[in-house]
Amino acid sequence: MGISKTTEQLRQIKEELLAATDAPLYKYRNENNYFPVIGEGSHTARIVFVGEAPGKNEALTGRPFCGASGKVLDELLRSINLSRDEVYITNIVKDRPVGNRDPRPEEIAYYGPFLERQLRILQPKVIAPLGRFSMDYILSLYSMPERGKSISELHGKVLRAGETVIVPLYHPAASIYNRSLRETLIRDMQQLTIFL
Ligand code: URA
Repeated sequence: MGISKTTEQLRQIKEELLAATDAPLYKYRNENNYFPVIGEGSHTARIVFVGEAPGKNEALTGRPFCGASGKVLDELLRSINLSRDEVYITNIVKDRPVGNRDPRPEEIAYYGPFLERQLRILQPKVIAPLGRFSMDYILSLYSMPERGKSISELHGKVLRAGETVIVPLYHPAASIYNRSLRETLIRDMQQLTIFL
């Protein structure tokens, strides 16, 4: 059997990003021998997690969430009996922001449409934005009435966007040194089990 159309379309996005010399963070990527981080996981996933941007470990390997935040994400997945290869994990911003600063609006504007294409290809039942940057982007993308609200208001809520469901979650990094936030995240993850 040949590779699926989905896999081919996702590969095309990867090729485009590798060659994207006009990307706002391309120079920084190139100077540091970093990779763009496109995403990984199941191409038939029902749940897609959308993080913010790659950190150093991710940029060095080209893989999302492979550092400290990734450990938390693995723990969260385990809490609902999922493994990484059953979901798809990506970010809005595909290159590491300089010195791990917050992504800038022009970076989100540049990389966002790549995420949009990934979502159109993957057609997940559930999108789980991790943190406020991806939450804001996804809520705008789906013209959700909740857009503009804060993550402390929306985390763990099941928001319906037609056939798709959006469940905003706190970013795993925020819970590394914050036990109560970690407990909240584990509780919010339970919302996803309805859709497995
Ligand atoms: N934080 C993110 O938002 N994404 C990653 O891939 C790693 C850390």
